[in-house]
Amino acid sequence: MKNVLITGAAGFLGSHLCDRFVKEGYHVIAMDNLITGDLKNIEHLSDNENFKFVNHDVSEHITIEGELDYILHFASPASPIDYLKIPIQTLKVGSLGTHNLLGLAKAKGARMLIASTSEVYGDPLVHPQTEEYYGNVNPIGPRGVYDEAKRFQEAITMAYHTYHSVETRIVRIFNTYGPRMRLNDGRVLPAFIGQALRGEDLTVFGKGNQTRSFCYVDDLIEGIYRLLLSDYALPVNIGNPDEITILDFAQEIIKLTGTSQKIIYKDLPVDDPMQRQPDIAKAKELLQWEPKVSRTEGLKITYEYFKGLNQDELNKVEHKNFDQYVK
Ligand code: UDP
Repeated sequence: MKNVLITGAAGFLGSHLCDRFVKEGYHVIAMDNLITGDLKNIEHLSDNENFKFVNHDVSEHITIEGELDYILHFASPASPIDYLKIPIQTLKVGSLGTHNLLGLAKAKGARMLIASTSEVYGDPLVHPQTEEYYGNVNPIGPRGVYDEAKRFQEAITMAYHTYHSVETRIVRIFNTYGPRMRLNDGRVLPAFIGQALRGEDLTVFGKGNQTRSFCYVDDLIEGIYRLLLSDYALPVNIGNPDEITILDFAQEIIKLTGTSQKIIYKDLPVDDPMQRQPDIAKAKELLQWEPKVSRTEGLKITYEYFKGLNQDELNKVEHKNFDQYVK
């Protein structure tokens, strides 16, 4: 039986990875410090003998007994509101946390996959974004703490690959959605669905002509799984190229939820990328991967999940739009 360490395991993507690796017959060590993660995302695994939860901050030294075959580093605040609230932790988990985990990978002879992001492309001047594009990032803007931590993470990962021959994989994740997203993480899908469910107007930032391309979580997990098992060490985009404006997306959510609420407009946050669409030619060729779940299908499943939350959870929104990410 192979051992895999998953960091950020109680988060949205981390918890889905835990499910997948348990299902594939791995022994999963699930690590999280629960800053943005939630144990309820993995509580269904708690009785499984091949699953072990460890409460630890990966920015501090990590000790794991026994052998380790794979490490998947998914610990990080991941929404603009989160990383604005906890900017230093965001920088530390991407930098110090990655360094600790690479050291662990080296010591154990494990293969390590890091969760990078489309944010390394910043507000992109190349469209759709290919892996060769270097990006257009403002290091000192509000998103800099996340974007630059992730860019550093890629750099140190490649350095360990080159200088220490650690086997590494880099996935650049584009906007992903699905069950277990946090209703109050500030991101557009939980924001809109939460607003519809609470009977509030939907807040579109700017004119809503900025675009995103949304990938359903199961598709993403499949892409990551294939990348981990591949022999390709350079970054690979994983996402769904089906691009939509935020205004059209708000209208889709209104239709899906049947809400009678309207759209209201708020200021566009600083450095909000105007367009985003992954070029997935590399994933198609190297991994024979492409997304299978349409937005219509994926949104339906996700809406059912959010509808199933209780009223307390629904109302537990600590911030409304956090003044569109503090000016
Ligand atoms: N957005 C919006 N209303 C909201 C939350 C977000 O119009 O209540 C917009 C945001 O300005 C951005 C897009 O939706 O253009 C996606 O934002 P999100 O935070 O989900 O992710 P990002 O891709 O910007 O990291």
